[in-house]
Amino acid sequence: MFGKDIGIDLGTANVLIYVKGQGIVLNEPSVVAIETDSKKILAVGEEAHEMLGRTPGKVSSIRPLKDGVIADFDLTKEMLNFFIKKIKASGVFTKPRILICCPSNITQVERNAIKEAAEATGAKKVYVEEEPKVAAIGSGLDISKPSASMVIDIGGGTTDIAVLSLGDIVTSKSIRVAGDLFNQDIIKYVKDKYKLLIGERTAEEVKINIGTVYQDDKKGKMTIRGRDLTTGLPNSITLSSKEVHDALKDSVDKIVLAAKNVLEETMPELSADIVTNGIVITGGGALLSGIDKLLHDELKVPIEVSSSPLTSVAEGTSIMLDNINLIERN
Ligand code: ADP
Ligand code: MG
Repeated sequence: MFGKDIGIDLGTANVLIYVKGQGIVLNEPSVVAIETDSKKILAVGEEAHEMLGRTPGKVSSIRPLKDGVIADFDLTKEMLNFFIKKIKASGVFTKPRILICCPSNITQVERNAIKEAAEATGAKKVYVEEEPKVAAIGSGLDISKPSASMVIDIGGGTTDIAVLSLGDIVTSKSIRVAGDLFNQDIIKYVKDKYKLLIGERTAEEVKINIGTVYQDDKKGKMTIRGRDLTTGLPNSITLSSKEVHDALKDSVDKIVLAAKNVLEETMPELSADIVTNGIVITGGGALLSGIDKLLHDELKVPIEVSSSPLTSVAEGTSIMLDNINLIERN
């Protein structure tokens, strides 16, 4: 039996686990379903996600990392345990080295706690890394050079923006404006305009299918169902791409503003590098139609969408694990 190296992307929306030699072996929503009164865990991951918005009063579906901070540490730990047990069951390996990436704005206490939770699963050694760094590496950037790179990671709960140089984060900012808020924006828009209450999953489908953040991008229309607030009965309406654009505008502007702030705080030599090297966008939000064009218009630098926005952090762990001796030296 050999100890294998494992990389974990502990995201606000999705947890991915990479195992050296096997690739990404797990990709599940970061959701836990619990019995409301007893707090007993009923389901984790995909199964718990199915229950979101459909749970009866006795059951609550919780996303323990929703806002990029660990709202519920015990649940985060249980979730991590569940996923690690699940991959252990499918392959024999003992005492792995674990590289775990967590949201960039968690406290040192939370960081240590995550480390302990991972150690408690039987790891030989646990390394904790900041997500933007790993996302940049996984998006194909060579961050070890003395030339600056910039990454914008639009996830579920947070958007993390970072400028990196010589292997480390130079300037960064994390805001709680990302995919979850986009869904809420769509829910609010439909409620205000059509007096129709739709669920989070419907809003997410709208965002993925016809969502756009760029004026000239037309992506058609979509018919959606919900509960009519005036009659209380089920009803449906047809929503256009333009309407979704309007719904998302304020939130997307906040991301643009945050990126501008980071650029303003970056040393002149480094921002000159960024003008040449451009910015890589990643995370599920990078798949939103028009986001690259909008950022290019607003920031006036080249924008590149990561080749695989939803898996770039997991892929980054794979590259880092191959160079684990480098991490060990730090
Ligand atoms: P995290 O790292 O915080 O777990 P992810 O990078 O996994 O987040 O991204 C999850 C977010 O990306 C969700 O809000 C999801 O709705 C959104 N998302 C996924 N696919 C798309 C898409 N094609 N268009 C727009 N948003 C998307
Ligand atoms: Mg992420």
